[in-house]
Amino acid sequence: MAYDPNNIFARILRGEIPNKTVYEDEHALAFHDINPQTPTHVLVIPKGAYVSFADFSAKASDAEIVGFVRAVGKVARDLGAEEPGYRILANNGADARQEVPHLHVHVFAGTDLGRMIK
Ligand code: IMP
Repeated sequence: MAYDPNNIFARILRGEIPNKTVYEDEHALAFHDINPQTPTHVLVIPKGAYVSFADFSAKASDAEIVGFVRAVGKVARDLGAEEPGYRILANNGADARQEVPHLHVHVFAGTDLGRMIK
């Protein structure tokens, strides 16, 4: 799928739509999901234009990949979610019901997450 530069997360990255930022650095932006599924529900996105995890892993530089992974981990730590735990998840493509075509990792925390979420 070609990257749509007007998807909602691209617009958030350009500052066209407000968001509740929890973390930002050179490679990543993390913000609260507008429709939280758990008491803590944060999305972490790379700043580059990547549709999916496969797209990102194929095209991003090593620095972007390392930076993004570190950002996801930092968000989980800073949320205080290491104990008692959290879940990370990325929906990719139609079968996974990906709604926004810009790679994003969900960080769910703040409750007993059961076996499956989303
Ligand atoms: P997906 O189904 O994995 O693509 O998840 C997309 C997520 O983006 C959903 O959980 C939405 O609630 C969330 N979302 C959509 N628009 C916004 C927004 O403007 N701000 C924050 N989260 C959003």
